[in-house]
Amino acid sequence: MNIKKNNSIKYMIEEIRAKNKISDYLSSKGILPVSQHEHRLAFRCPIHNDANPSFMVFLDDNTHENYFCFGCLKSGDIISLYAELEKISWKQSIRILGKDIIVTDSHRLDVTVEQLKNELKNISLDKSKNPFGEISAQIATMGFAFMKAVHWDEQERQLIEKLYKKIDSCILGWDIDGLNKIYDFLSGNNQEHRNAFECRIEGWQKKQKEIDNNKLLLRQQQLEENDNE
Ligand SMILES: [Zn+2]
Repeated sequence: MNIKKNNSIKYMIEEIRAKNKISDYLSSKGILPVSQHEHRLAFRCPIHNDANPSFMVFLDDNTHENYFCFGCLKSGDIISLYAELEKISWKQSIRILGKDIIVTDSHRLDVTVEQLKNELKNISLDKSKNPFGEISAQIATMGFAFMKAVHWDEQERQLIEKLYKKIDSCILGWDIDGLNKIYDFLSGNNQEHRNAFECRIEGWQKKQKEIDNNKLLLRQQQLEENDNE
């Protein structure tokens, strides 16, 4: 048995994180950063089909690297990313990345994976670790609700893409004020106007009604023409 009895699993997790940099892992897969900043790297997201560099790897944490994608909202550490990209469980990910410090106690590993999941769930919302995460997550949530409300309308989707590009440039430029302004505009937070998404939904519904009415008129006309024949 290759267990170091003194090693708690928590210690092992820290070792895995310290020895396996997210940036090294991605570069081993041929995924290179689109841009490099003082405390973070920006990639096209390896998890979702990403036209923009929405995937941020934060280097400014002393203990380990974190990632957050404002496109698909996935966040985590090397263990969760490895599991995601290699399509394996977190438990398998720990076993492979920590192969030199193998733990055979399956139950303890299960408990640790659960703790890890809870811990990582909060990363994207932790402003001190990622000042952009919370705002991005809220905008993305509003955007998703909006797209559902307009039945994934292609024209509206293109509009959302444009919006996300603007958000991208704020994130890449480390422009927190710009991102806040976009958020205030979208959510109607500054009280000068209503929630931009709600206005847009109303407009879309009105347009749909017109389209339906026109279809109805057309059908009536066709029926009348048939009668006249
Ligand atoms: Zn993503």
